[in-house]
Amino acid sequence: MDFQNDLKYAQQLDKEDGLREYRKQFFIPDFQGAAVAYFCGNSLGLQPKVVKFYIEQELLDWKNLGVEGHLKAKNPWFSYHHFFESAAKLVGAQKEEVVIMNSLTVNLHLILASLYKNRGKRRKILMEAKAFPSDQHAVETFLRLRDLDPSDIILEIKPRKGEHTLRTEDILEAIEENRLELAMVMMSGVNYYTGQYFDIPTITKAGKKAGAVVGWDLAHTTGNVPLKLHDWNVDFAVWCTYKYMNSGPGSVGGLFVHEEHGNNIDIPRMGGWWGTEEETRFQMDKHFKAQRGAAGWQLSNAPVFAMAMHKASLDIFDDAGIENLREKSLKLTGYLEFLLKDNKNLTIITPANPEERGCQLSLLTKKNGKALFQKLRDNGIIADWREPDVIRVAPVPLYNTFSDVYRLAEILNS
Ligand SMILES: *Cc1c(COP(=O)(O)O)cnc(C)c1O
Repeated sequence: MDFQNDLKYAQQLDKEDGLREYRKQFFIPDFQGAAVAYFCGNSLGLQPKVVKFYIEQELLDWKNLGVEGHLKAKNPWFSYHHFFESAAKLVGAQKEEVVIMNSLTVNLHLILASLYKNRGKRRKILMEAKAFPSDQHAVETFLRLRDLDPSDIILEIKPRKGEHTLRTEDILEAIEENRLELAMVMMSGVNYYTGQYFDIPTITKAGKKAGAVVGWDLAHTTGNVPLKLHDWNVDFAVWCTYKYMNSGPGSVGGLFVHEEHGNNIDIPRMGGWWGTEEETRFQMDKHFKAQRGAAGWQLSNAPVFAMAMHKASLDIFDDAGIENLREKSLKLTGYLEFLLKDNKNLTIITPANPEERGCQLSLLTKKNGKALFQKLRDNGIIADWREPDVIRVAPVPLYNTFSDVYRLAEILNS
């Protein structure tokens, strides 16, 4: 794309932006009387103004109805998880394949318990080296709990020497090489550190062909890029909703379980009463019988207030459309990349191919990285720092502008 390094030009792009009105639906934090340029939507998304009204509805129903709100609230709490078809749509799933519940790491433990099988020789789990710590901790502690030795099970795949990101061909080769021993492939869709967006369909296909279960951590992927989890035959996926999904700090997580597994109610699991059939749940029978679909992994009744925040956010995504958001995102991140191309003090470690990244660019600082990061803060620009030397910035299409991007680049280049 032909861009120009010029504020007037950035402002013109903002004027032509068909999604520009969505910014008005968010509260943008303030810095010295003006809006900050917020580039941390990959860490904690901003608050949609409507969130308050979604929560107020539930407060009102609780106040006026008490326990009867379970069935009589405007959005009956008993059925609350049914109101999240938009989440399934957003990740390209059938509605029974997605449930909103718990948090990412909890959901990861629950699904590992069901879908990881130690079959002797076939027991390995392929992961990316330096995966997000919680994923590493979850897999490691899950294995120890089963008296398995993580170092015997986990295979880590690393970038080639001198490279920052993984090549798809190397991932495919690792799968091929270990095809007789792989029980599972578990990776992040978009790596939190480098911003690399992996080729989910190709890797999933190869992993499944090798006889492994293939699962994805979509914390940095959901709400960032369009997904087709069902058609891609992904076995399972987990995500959080407070990053690109703007659903509030620590808000509820998501779980995708392909219908191939979801339809099998005999899959062993860590169960709770909310995973049982709704018709018979209140017969208070002692025997657990799972309901079909991802909802069969629910443990508890829905945390309605957190879910109300998520519902508010999903309605915005529904309205804007993830394909439209992606189109703007490619341009917005592309513009940032263009503005930084001559910067000698930074290396962009995120892949240059737009198909291999989402919103985020990870900027490897060569010297005085921390000071540069502080300079951003002093100029009302919110980014984040990841040890030892990376500044992560994520222009998001719902509320960032081309002028925000220009402002960021101006400081980084100065
Ligand atoms: C943010 C993030 C998490 C967070 O897990 P929680 O259980 O929501 O605290 C997990 N994995 C990845 C890859 C993340 O980026």
